Amino acid sequence: MQLLFGQLDPSRPTERILNGPTNEAWIDPWVAYLEELGVEFRPATPVRRFEVDGGQVAGLELADGNQVRSDEYVLAVPVEVAPEFVTPELARVAPELRRIDRLETAWMNGIQFYLREDVELTRGHQVYADAPWALTSISQRQFWTGCDLDERGPEEVAGVLSVIASDWDTPGIVYDKPARRCSREEIATEIWEQLKRHLDGPETRLTDGLLVDWFLDPALVEVGGASETRDETVEGVENRSPLLINTVGALRNRPPADVGVPNLTIASDYVRTNSDLASMESANEAGRRAANAICRRHGVRETARIWELEEPAVLEPFKHHDRIRYRLGLPHPGAVTQSLRRVTSRLGGRA
Ligand SMILES: Cc1cc2nc3c(=O)[nH]c(=O)nc-3n(C[C@H](O)[C@H](O)[C@H](O)COP(=O)(O)OP(=O)(O)OC[C@H]3O[C@@H](n4cnc5c(N)ncnc54)[C@H](O)[C@@H]3O)c2cc1C
Repeated sequence: MQLLFGQLDPSRPTERILNGPTNEAWIDPWVAYLEELGVEFRPATPVRRFEVDGGQVAGLELADGNQVRSDEYVLAVPVEVAPEFVTPELARVAPELRRIDRLETAWMNGIQFYLREDVELTRGHQVYADAPWALTSISQRQFWTGCDLDERGPEEVAGVLSVIASDWDTPGIVYDKPARRCSREEIATEIWEQLKRHLDGPETRLTDGLLVDWFLDPALVEVGGASETRDETVEGVENRSPLLINTVGALRNRPPADVGVPNLTIASDYVRTNSDLASMESANEAGRRAANAICRRHGVRETARIWELEEPAVLEPFKHHDRIRYRLGLPHPGAVTQSLRRVTSRLGGRA
């Protein structure tokens, strides 16, 4: 709904895009700002576990064995990592944390193609509706106004095309294999070919001669070898960084930022926020909610602002109707139409 508003209202931007690579445009300045305020960062320092004592976090054990003690702890690790921190003791104090491992993830990973010429395509994102691997892309250079490509990377690179693949189960057009069964090299070749097939015609926009290099998400790690359960060799990649997807009913499995432990808050995209989409927006709101909880605990009056969703009044009667049906135990009207459609198509199939 919020995305639609942005597209229909000419006074608002349709989508917002950073004016440089994410680290340079956003993360690095933010880190510099926080350091200026006295924050000490310890990058590449994984935490192994929480120590819980007396119903609260007593300390952290780092992967190198060192201990850390603090007044407040903020858990902000990805959804597939968080359950490792939920010890039975912690779950007893904050049962909602136990439900994080019920949240579902899917694969959505990116690749960048570095091009000899800048190919702008359109001024926004592209959706390749015909690509088996559900590709989307953006031609970066037209937006990276704050970044000089000549100062970095190989000299011949003049354009950057960022592409995301969201379907890892449908066979591709070159190797006839789903993405998760391909090697990293095959994934790059396959995505490049799917892009070319879509973009080239009637005019040619991508040619092999344009491609200087590519960079695929390092979270995709090649695996190979005999399957333990079946008599076959399983090849392809595993995804060390799957993306949270908010499925029907997932809201109740998302923990609040203030989870009821006196010195622990949660600040990740799976926290119960106003956003029903794993996004930086949701992670940001979770951070704000965690900050507010900490402020409340320490008697700080000032709070970070939280934005509510805007929904048009015209939808109110439908929502009211839906609420009544729900209370009566009746299915959603959409579900009824779906099942009717299934029945009619099954009957049609028989005929
Ligand atoms: C391909 C792709 C495209 C996307 N595009 C968009 C977009 O256009 N707009 C948008 O809003 N969102 C987008 N998203 C979603 C967005 O990136 C995430 O929702 C957001 O980054 C989540 O932020 P987070 O802080 O919750 O988690 P993360 O950004 O995943 O941060 C978690 C951190 O925890 C660290 N960590 C892991 N284990 C440990 C440990 N044991 N100890 C200490 N630290 C640890 C990780 O290294 C990481 O830095 C995209 C996601 C993907 C995968």
